[in-house]
Amino acid sequence: MEHQLDIVVVGAGLSGLAASIQCALSGHLVMVLESARELAEIGAGLQLTPNATRLLQQWGVYDTVKDQVCEPATLTVLNYQGKVLAQEDGFDNNIRRKYGAPFSDCHRVDLQQALVKRAKELGVRVILSAKVTSIDVGNAPGSQAEVAIEGGNIYDADLVVGADGLWSTCRSSFLGRRDPPLPTGDLAYRIVLNINQIKDPKLRGMVQNPACRFWAGPDAHVVAYSMRSGNMYNVVLLVPDDLEEGVARTAGDLDEMRKLFEGWDPVLTQLLECVDRVDKWKLMHRKEMESWVNPHSNLVLIGDSCHPMLPYLAQGANSSIEDGAVLGLLLAPENFTSKEQLPETLQLFQQLRKARGEAIARETFKQRKDFHMRNGPEQEKRDELMLGQLGKELDGAFPSRWTCPEVQPWLYGYDAVKEVQAAVKSTKT
Ligand SMILES: Cc1cc2nc3c(=O)[nH]c(=O)nc-3n(C[C@H](O)[C@H](O)[C@H](O)COP(=O)(O)OP(=O)(O)OC[C@H]3O[C@@H](n4cnc5c(N)ncnc54)[C@H](O)[C@@H]3O)c2cc1C
Repeated sequence: MEHQLDIVVVGAGLSGLAASIQCALSGHLVMVLESARELAEIGAGLQLTPNATRLLQQWGVYDTVKDQVCEPATLTVLNYQGKVLAQEDGFDNNIRRKYGAPFSDCHRVDLQQALVKRAKELGVRVILSAKVTSIDVGNAPGSQAEVAIEGGNIYDADLVVGADGLWSTCRSSFLGRRDPPLPTGDLAYRIVLNINQIKDPKLRGMVQNPACRFWAGPDAHVVAYSMRSGNMYNVVLLVPDDLEEGVARTAGDLDEMRKLFEGWDPVLTQLLECVDRVDKWKLMHRKEMESWVNPHSNLVLIGDSCHPMLPYLAQGANSSIEDGAVLGLLLAPENFTSKEQLPETLQLFQQLRKARGEAIARETFKQRKDFHMRNGPEQEKRDELMLGQLGKELDGAFPSRWTCPEVQPWLYGYDAVKEVQAAVKSTKT
């Protein structure tokens, strides 16, 4: 087949695996190089929104995880002292009705393994312990790229997909210089509780009846949701960054963590009493790039390597899955018939994805502002606006973008397949 490309994907995270699946479905030879020795990241939760779950459904991946995920029946925003500011009942059904796909809370490892399984079924080669050290993109457009890994092996590719996350080597290779991520000023305490760690019946009920809860407080907020069929609870505490420069991740101190939430809702503080270990993650971001595609059109960046964001709208992974899908769909035989088309195809990819990825990243910072207000006139205005709509259908811009009638549709309503079809059609007319 003339259109078949040799594609090397760097990184078996969610963006890399999504790209691999869709590129393999489009008939290309795909190899994934992953630095980790095994794909078992320390467990934490992931909220999947319809813009990604509709793709997972199409790929047959959602079926593999559907018995392990939780669809939250309500989404509630409380102030830090536990007063309800916003609540949507029937959230699970409303989302399916509005967007035709679910909002699902899952364990990241479950999703990653389901993606790997599907990728392998489609013939994708996943090579572990393969840390990419450099990429030689050749000296002319149309050159094959050479991807070198630690230990000396080199892999040739018509196209290299840089899906190696926040600390991307592909990005540095692309720019020709070291380009470390920047602190956002916040960090996350990541907690996973097993139902057995929770003795209080009320708290156990909270875990067993899937719902999504936010507590918004001064300079910080908390998100909590059930996963693994209501047998696990994922709690993330988002607070000002006090990690030393150069420390990206470390074990957290439990007393220090609890102290930060003294005076908050007793439901939350009681929950924090159940915690016996916690990780502290510095939240990083990056400057927007001029381009995600190199001049020779044989290296393209996707996911956190080019549009990392705050996790405050749960869109980092979801938008990375969109990236992978759009790239693979543009390379489908009905849209892509010869290697010579690679430059224009990658430009179209960038046109479809860059503005959106960056807009979502910016929106996450706006969400921080609305969820981290200190007590005072601005916070009182926010609460008034939210309480004024409590129990009613929301109308207009809403401080919680999770249910905002203006933001939610452009986040969750995005359909990668339709986007690609429309874009390809418009290039032909
Ligand atoms: C606290 C927190 C909560 C979050 N919650 C959510 C959420 O609920 N929903 C959501 O959508 N997003 C969430 N995110 C964001 C999400 O985790 C990321 O946006 C997403 O994982 C990005 O995927 P990626 O594939 O681009 O990068 P990654 O997941 O980082 O994957 C990159 C892969 O590349 C590999 N790699 C790195 N360097 C090399 C190399 N040199 N050679 C070979 N392999 C390499 C890594 O080992 C890794 O497997 C959250 C983030 C945080 C910090």
